[in-house]
Amino acid sequence: MTNEGLVKGGEFLLREAVGRTQFTPEDFTSEQRQIAETTEAFVDNEIFPDLEQMEEQDFPLLIEKLRSCAKLGLFLVDIPEKFGGLELDKSTSMLVAEKLGPTGSFAITSSGQTGIGSLPLVYYGTAQQKQKYLEKLTSGEWIASYCLTEPDCGSDPLSSRTTATLTEDGSSYLLNGVKQFITNAAFADLFTVFAKIDGQHFSAFLVERSMAGLSIGNEEKKMGLKGTSTAQVVLANVRVPVENLLGEVGKGHKIAFNVLNIGRLKLAATVTGAAKAAFAEAVNYAVERKQFGQTLASFGAIREKLADMLGDLFAAESLLYRTSGLLDERIETLDRDDDNYYEHYQKAIEEYAGECAIAKVFCSNTLAHVADEALQIHGGYGYIRDYPVERIYRDERVNRIFEGTNEINRLLIPGLLLRRADSGALDLWSLVKAVQGKFQSGDIKDVGDNTLFGTELSQLATQKKLFLLLLGALGENRSEQEILLALGDMIISLFALESSILRTSKIFSTVSERQKRLLQAVVKVTTFTGVDRFQSAAMRCATYGVHGANLVALQKTITSLCAYPAIGLLKAKQQLAEAAAESGSYPF
Ligand SMILES: Cc1cc2nc3c(=O)[nH]c(=O)nc-3n(C[C@H](O)[C@H](O)[C@H](O)COP(=O)(O)OP(=O)(O)OC[C@H]3O[C@@H](n4cnc5c(N)ncnc54)[C@H](O)[C@@H]3O)c2cc1C
Repeated sequence: MTNEGLVKGGEFLLREAVGRTQFTPEDFTSEQRQIAETTEAFVDNEIFPDLEQMEEQDFPLLIEKLRSCAKLGLFLVDIPEKFGGLELDKSTSMLVAEKLGPTGSFAITSSGQTGIGSLPLVYYGTAQQKQKYLEKLTSGEWIASYCLTEPDCGSDPLSSRTTATLTEDGSSYLLNGVKQFITNAAFADLFTVFAKIDGQHFSAFLVERSMAGLSIGNEEKKMGLKGTSTAQVVLANVRVPVENLLGEVGKGHKIAFNVLNIGRLKLAATVTGAAKAAFAEAVNYAVERKQFGQTLASFGAIREKLADMLGDLFAAESLLYRTSGLLDERIETLDRDDDNYYEHYQKAIEEYAGECAIAKVFCSNTLAHVADEALQIHGGYGYIRDYPVERIYRDERVNRIFEGTNEINRLLIPGLLLRRADSGALDLWSLVKAVQGKFQSGDIKDVGDNTLFGTELSQLATQKKLFLLLLGALGENRSEQEILLALGDMIISLFALESSILRTSKIFSTVSERQKRLLQAVVKVTTFTGVDRFQSAAMRCATYGVHGANLVALQKTITSLCAYPAIGLLKAKQQLAEAAAESGSYPF
């Protein structure tokens, strides 16, 4: 088994896009498409008809629906075959999460079960622990939850105050503390609880609901996701047998953070599904509703909104499945029979922690943009509960807060890149030097040719060089969070742009003439938006971190290198909006 030829995490920044390829939604096999259809049919037939009732916190009904979902095998996707699971790839797992996404509360409840609730056990559990609990979870007999956050520690979970103390006879740990905002708390049977042994060694424990001393606080009254349970989990001298320690003493941070990498990608998939649903609501309303004697969809103001929403959605979908494809390629090189399989598996996932964080931020921001504009297109009706877009808008907000706030993730992205460069895993600094040298001796702007997406590819190549040039110009001056956030935003927009162009280049020759025109239009729109976002972040970064005459020169360079000649942009937007109006949904 070899990693040769595999793309490294963060490497996209250092290599030319030309000639590269990636996994795309168009690569799904008929088996994967069938799983997607089964999930969609389940959502349409079993969840949507009862959604309103579930929004009233009818937890018995919610549990019944979770069990129906389990019966279809949808809880088996990430579970090892050895324990009765399907052990499918991450792309399939993301596809299922995307299809559940439009259900809001149900999606978050079920991903609490199959994602952060079950994966710690799957990745770090002993054979005995898996034997004892996994089947209960995959059948839906038991519900899982993940308890990391505390009243005084959210973004900084390692400052946890929950303690675990070994009993004198060495048979158990006594857990004490309070966990805050725990999804599924009201009805969960198994809690993965993080606590510090002797107040020092951060570790994870499998805690059963029936263990004496565990109690659940009152339900939080939330803005959205009203059908989910969110409550405190209170641990007062809960006696947990030593066999229920998960992983090693003092290695809880590995469990917490590695599981969050997949949790973030799953969230990216869930919100992409929700954003597609919001987009369909917006389009259908715009086609139906008339003002001034014509449909909303015929107004340029509305067409522009639809096209911009579509551009972000296309980029979100492209980078989501590109990332799951990267994970799958690497995981495929591992030997499932190796005793240390999950150790290698974790390393494979950790490799792409940056890409998972990018997906979380970009896709949740996309849902925020799409949900907000979908509501705006509904006018006053969007503010009224009878319209689905009202719920989507309320449910959206928390996605930028949980699974690591978007600020924490935006800081993590450049942090990981710089750490990988310092450790020698990425040859970042020699490239920075090379670009600086080139810049001093001439221009670093790539000139586009007439090949397919030649202009966009050269714009992307130019921006990558500009990113390296800026890193070099900052020197050691990159400790301020404001600078790191700007670097993070540049990286995010580069990944989104490249993922859209590479996907389109890959599928272009296989689609109809009409679809080709749409793909050209969407690449134009995503490139225009991507360059705009990149430029804004680059300007912030330079202005915060570079001073004097160097800054003035750099600002001029940024302006000239970010000039993308988006000829025909207006027509491209009109084409996209018309295609959406014709199909009544996301047209790709
Ligand atoms: C509906 C819901 C469900 C949840 N489900 C779960 C669950 O199942 N399990 C679980 O463990 N947790 C869960 N959470 C908790 C969630 O993960 C936390 O709310 C989140 O991690 C943020 O922590 P906090 O709320 O304490 O905010 P804080 O950490 O206090 O952050 C407040 C603000 O400060 C910013 N900030 C904090 N630190 C920094 C920093 N170093 N640099 C820059 N900015 C910073 C943040 O970005 C944020 O904008 C849930 C939360 C909600 C609302």
